[in-house]
Amino acid sequence: MGDIEGATVLAKALKGQGIEYVFGIVGIPVVEVAMAMQAVGLKYIGMRNEQAASYAASAIGYLTGRPAVCLTVSGPGMIHAIAGMANAMENCWPLIVIGGSSEESQGSTGAFQEFPQVEAARMYTKYAARPSSVERIPFYVEKAVRMSIYGRPGVCYIDIPGNFVMSKVEEKNVRYIPPCPPPPRICAPDDMIKKAVDLIMYAEKPLVIIGKGAGYAQCEAEVEKLVVGSKLPFLPTPMGKGLLPDEHPLCVAPARSKALQDADVILLLGGRLNWILHFGAPPRFRADVKIIQVDISLEEIGNNVHPAVGLAGDLKSVVTQLNDEIARRPGKFVFNSNSPWWKTLDEKIKKNREATQKSIDDKRLPLNYYAALDEVNKLLPKNCFLVSEGANTMDISRTVIPNSLPRQRLDAGTFGTMGVGTGFALAAAVWCRDHEPDRRVICIQGDSAFGFSGMEVETICRYRLPIIFVIINNNGITRSFDEEGFQKLEGTDLLITSPPTVLLPNAHYEKIIEAFGGNGYFCKTPEEIQKSLSAALRSKTQASLVNIMINTMADRREQDFSWLSGIQPSKM
Ligand code: ADP
Repeated sequence: MGDIEGATVLAKALKGQGIEYVFGIVGIPVVEVAMAMQAVGLKYIGMRNEQAASYAASAIGYLTGRPAVCLTVSGPGMIHAIAGMANAMENCWPLIVIGGSSEESQGSTGAFQEFPQVEAARMYTKYAARPSSVERIPFYVEKAVRMSIYGRPGVCYIDIPGNFVMSKVEEKNVRYIPPCPPPPRICAPDDMIKKAVDLIMYAEKPLVIIGKGAGYAQCEAEVEKLVVGSKLPFLPTPMGKGLLPDEHPLCVAPARSKALQDADVILLLGGRLNWILHFGAPPRFRADVKIIQVDISLEEIGNNVHPAVGLAGDLKSVVTQLNDEIARRPGKFVFNSNSPWWKTLDEKIKKNREATQKSIDDKRLPLNYYAALDEVNKLLPKNCFLVSEGANTMDISRTVIPNSLPRQRLDAGTFGTMGVGTGFALAAAVWCRDHEPDRRVICIQGDSAFGFSGMEVETICRYRLPIIFVIINNNGITRSFDEEGFQKLEGTDLLITSPPTVLLPNAHYEKIIEAFGGNGYFCKTPEEIQKSLSAALRSKTQASLVNIMINTMADRREQDFSWLSGIQPSKM
């Protein structure tokens, strides 16, 4: 063993911990770090903005249960990655950010891009540290990997001062740490499991809510056994969708409000009672609803609502425990397929489906969201990854485009972040390339959402990732102006008169992808959508962008409760 550079120690440590992908942007002082990473066989994706790179790396963490790395330069580069760190923390997804930083000997001198990066990272991480020496880098890497996936998944930050990168140490003094094993699968206490099963068996209106924590925990087989075995109605959260197929007869998503409002016992699997689930509070829930909350994080149990039973543990183990306990008590469920509640739910499902279908069938031009997304849905391969963002585009696609596979859908998530889609799609496409080459990635975005990271289409074309972008283009954020409306502003001071929601009418976003060799399509009619999307699907080695113009006044259907309807958590 001879001398080894800090960059290679870091790369070998990451490789040894089973890291597969690094998304980043190089510059001082991390150019050599990225090269060393490639030299040891890590796959490096050179991006255009650290924000998208950090989103991309976090999506790999969610899809695989093992973190990916986001590599940044010092100061501003690391600060851009904070967006992805915060988003991953809010989503409870593992992520490791490695930031180059200014040289140790220049601390507090106003060095190039000097910034208190470890301190800045702390608020968005479970663990943030700077290794005490090059020799000890592997210790910090193992700790970061372990902390990102043990307990509630989250983000870890490692700071690498510029002087570490090229400095040489004797490799015999470097202590590499064996790969961190997957997290131990924690079980819940037996007496609590019994209590939970009692509640489910005696419930008249039970409901299982499947959150994205269940997606992350990869417990689809266990959840299927529980839900299908006991014929329980289930409701997925936006990213819990697909754990069991949306078109499953036990799925009550089309009667979401009714199911939440009337359920007397709710089994909550890996979801939080935050804004997405209306804080578990009336009028969206019964005041006397009994919640069985399953979560890896003990600190989460009791947030906003005290559960009737709190089961802290890993979902795969806890759902297995529930299944075993149910198997010990056959045939004693109060709720069954003849229960009146099924009738109520079925009626509501039918009514809501009919209303949605009406919007879908309204093919007047310019198209509404439902009609446009239906045209897209008709052609989508069942197994494709679906990335979806942009307020109306995301929400309506959730209704119009069904999911049938776990972790198939990536969206704005707990933080409601716009601009995550392109990074997520890129990560899913890289992962498909290596692990499931027959799957396609479809990224459905509003025109505003696409704008956040539009330049990543260069990255996507450079790596020949055949992502299909579908832009549902209404010329702006929520309602907007058509070309005629915008022209009326001609001659006025646009900084005063152009509404903040308006973007340039009829923008030809498809030209952006054409600039990098991708396929661009501009559509207004169902026929044009069909033709363009079919061509995009045929192109297996090149990315495509289908820009669909819709009605600038289009909106979602009226809901029983308005979005974010101002409910306060019941404990407050
Ligand atoms: P959703 O947005 O779908 O409602 P959330 O992100 O709010 O889901 O909640 C996911 C929950 O899942 C988090 O509280 C997290 O602690 C939990 N979780 C993550 N991994 C596991 C696991 N392996 N077992 C149990 N719970 C988990």
